Amino acid sequence: MKSDTVYMDNNATTCMAPEVIDGMHEAEKIYGNASSMHQRGREAAALVGLSRESVARLLGCDADEVIFNSGATESNNAVFNIARHLIALKGGKIVTTTIEHPAIIETVKYLRTEGVRVDLAEVDPEGIVKIDQLEKLVDDDTVLVSVMMGNNESGAIQNVMEACRIAHSHGALFHTDATQAIGKMNIDFNKSAFDYMSLSAHKFYGPKGVGCLIVKKGAPLFPLMHGGHQENGIRPGTYNTQAIYGMGIAADLAARNLDDEIQRLWEMREALRKGIEERIEDVVINGSQEHCLPGTLNVSFPRAEGESILLMLDLKGVEVSTGSACATGSLEPSYVLMATGMDVELAHGSIRFSLGRYNTMEDVQYVLDVLPPIIRNLREMSTR
Ligand code: PMP
Repeated sequence: MKSDTVYMDNNATTCMAPEVIDGMHEAEKIYGNASSMHQRGREAAALVGLSRESVARLLGCDADEVIFNSGATESNNAVFNIARHLIALKGGKIVTTTIEHPAIIETVKYLRTEGVRVDLAEVDPEGIVKIDQLEKLVDDDTVLVSVMMGNNESGAIQNVMEACRIAHSHGALFHTDATQAIGKMNIDFNKSAFDYMSLSAHKFYGPKGVGCLIVKKGAPLFPLMHGGHQENGIRPGTYNTQAIYGMGIAADLAARNLDDEIQRLWEMREALRKGIEERIEDVVINGSQEHCLPGTLNVSFPRAEGESILLMLDLKGVEVSTGSACATGSLEPSYVLMATGMDVELAHGSIRFSLGRYNTMEDVQYVLDVLPPIIRNLREMSTR
């Protein structure tokens, strides 16, 4: 099944690269259990090993610092679970931010019900975490500091190096959710001094349901689940050889021409931004423009509803996203945009365009052709 649409929702997920699909087709024949000692088992283990090397090359970590799992939700939960254990042992608290992905925000809500102390640093109007506030919140009691690398909605790139320095200056561990940064930023885990880093393969043209947690050697570890001895018992469960192998191919592809790809994504994003500003009056570009993921453009269209824009664009074969979460029948505006101090109505009229490897300038041009009449029509219909 193939849709012929302009897909600009690459922050939600990416398609699998053709090279990944081909590789996974080959890997599906390697059905041995990667933990078995016989030949078929060793063949499967070899694929897992290759992927581990590829992921390590892309991220600048050592192969034995990669723990394969189901993706960033699991990785984020695993890290907060480690902090939970440490706090149970010796007390202390966690510091994170108001704009983290729900895989952290909801984990925080849960941990608070258990009595775990968690402080949240806020963001400035550009969606950048207030480092001075973070510095005040982090104290010698802090066990873990977690700040995402690039925000999935606004695209705002965070000062994770400084956040890591602050954490370490108080003896706290540092985690970054790098899910949106992979294949869009140069990352060198070993140089960074991070203790933990989360990612998912499906954000960089790999398969869904697979990812990893990168753990610096010597950083504390507690398993989230208990079972077999895979990943040194830290992440038990039979290896999904095929998906892990696909992720390795995706990592190799992402590492290839990364700087050129960053440049290309930024040029398309800028062409889209300038075109929207030229062709549509009264628009607000959200998030930092200086520190922004190269393919992400978040725009508010006052007097137009984000969901309506999304559906109208969909009818024209353009797939984008709003920041809203449709919770229990009521459309809540994006908490990420609201955290920047944005007015509720403006947050309701926001659209996230996220460009990726398979977008072209023609796609950008097409969106610039179909979007202005959509906004005009919706504004004319608006009773506000
Ligand atoms: N963190 C961030 C920043 C994300 O964008 C996502 C995916 N939207 C996740 C975590 C969760 O990833 P997954 O659904 O693959 O577990």
